[in-house]
Amino acid sequence: MPVALLSVSDKTGLVDFARGLVEGGYALVSTGGTAKALRAAQLPVRDISEITHFPEMLDGRVKTLHPVVHGGLLARRDLPEHMAAIAEHGIAPIDLVCVNLYPFRETAAKPGLAPEEVIEQIDIGGPSMLRSAAKNFASVTVVVDPADYTRVLAAIANGGDALELRRDLAEKVYAHTASYDAAISGWFASQRGERFPERLALGYERVQTLRYGENPGQAAAFYSEERGRGLAALKQHGGKELSFNNLLDLEGAMLAIDPFGEEVACAIIKHTTPCGLATGKTALEAYQKALACDPVSAFGSVIAFSVPVDEAAAQAIASLFVECLIAPAFSAEALQILGAKKNLRVLEGAARSTGTALDVKGVRGGILVQERAPSVLDDHNWRLVTKRAPTSAESKDLLFAWRAVASVKSNAIVLARDGATIGIGAGQMSRVDAAFLAVHKARAANHDPNGAALGSDAFFPFRDGVDQAAQAGVRAIVQPGGSVRDDEVIAAADEHGIAMVFTGQRTFRH
Ligand code: 5GP
Repeated sequence: MPVALLSVSDKTGLVDFARGLVEGGYALVSTGGTAKALRAAQLPVRDISEITHFPEMLDGRVKTLHPVVHGGLLARRDLPEHMAAIAEHGIAPIDLVCVNLYPFRETAAKPGLAPEEVIEQIDIGGPSMLRSAAKNFASVTVVVDPADYTRVLAAIANGGDALELRRDLAEKVYAHTASYDAAISGWFASQRGERFPERLALGYERVQTLRYGENPGQAAAFYSEERGRGLAALKQHGGKELSFNNLLDLEGAMLAIDPFGEEVACAIIKHTTPCGLATGKTALEAYQKALACDPVSAFGSVIAFSVPVDEAAAQAIASLFVECLIAPAFSAEALQILGAKKNLRVLEGAARSTGTALDVKGVRGGILVQERAPSVLDDHNWRLVTKRAPTSAESKDLLFAWRAVASVKSNAIVLARDGATIGIGAGQMSRVDAAFLAVHKARAANHDPNGAALGSDAFFPFRDGVDQAAQAGVRAIVQPGGSVRDDEVIAAADEHGIAMVFTGQRTFRH
């Protein structure tokens, strides 16, 4: 009779799986909690201590760490010496192992737990069994993920040798234990207050392979830090599979929406940068204002909302060619309208950046890792540097412009009025060109820059950008300040009667 050893922390699907195993002719052996769950379901099961002849000890630290278990897992069935050796010691082969580990990551993430409690959640016996069983995949089936229960039972019901399945499951095990250890190592580093340990253990999980990368011909995949976090947590309602560039643009879209917090905001993204960004009383109004910024560029965009999309907004969006639409929720009517657009990827979820997540960028031969830029941008520490102070309407526009420019690729200048961008100069190699472009884009979309507020992601190194803005009629400027020529820049603003504030904070996006 084949033997299955079950020892799981996450008992989801356990009873059904075990019942399937019994029906498939397996004898069950389990550790304490797992055996209890199986007995409660009237399934026949032996305690592990019955076969190890050792009690589970040290508060469960030692349960399955025993030659009877590891001999039974590791013995090569094709080597008579191995089989004779285990027989000599009264060890029976174990044919299937089903283990999932103590939830270390989840425990470590809980606030206020003592280090000792977290350490107790380092599973030792579980990974050992998984690794032994996976090494011997030629004969042993190893199941680490409840999502695999069905296909394992199907293979058993099918009969025949499922070597390929066992190999796949083994591969999964080593990825799983590597990521588990990465989490433990990361926790140790965090205990020293270290965000950037000497060896960075990144336990990324593949969410999906992608059709191609930035361009056809480049193989690509999407990995997430944790299953069900960030963009990996989005629920897709319709449309084609997400592409590499879609995901990049969605990241840009979430960045653009983030600073607006609870406000109703809409961002229209092209090539990771907003081509329109606006707040409004309703989703529809925010969308219309964002679209008006640059309707030409909005073709083929990714659109994000900070609030649920209702019927009215959906109807308006439906007349534009859009790649992806993301919002925290959709009304049933909105889903129906958007569902009719076969190519539109509709994504539900607030993929807000979390406080602890790191920002990773690839360079040849390595990665650069940094904390994420703060998503809360306010005016608490602003400093008025010009003779004229902004009016209250200008102040509002300045705060909007400051929040908007943060997600625009550097060098970035935005022109804003009434809670909407009216001209965006993005990704320029000089600030004066970014200012020129913002004015040009505003005029190209029939906006009058006269009286607009201007936001700049970094300081003006020369007065030329300010002069250019003044010529176009800009009345108020928000910028970090900090240039050696700040005096010259402030003097230029004063000459033009512009009100200017310094934020003391830079928001580059390279
Ligand atoms: P149970 O709920 O059955 O008592 O415990 C199941 C958990 O114990 C599983 O997560 C499994 O990985 C873990 N486990 C099994 N054997 C050992 C062992 O010898 N030492 C430790 N620390 N954990 C074990």
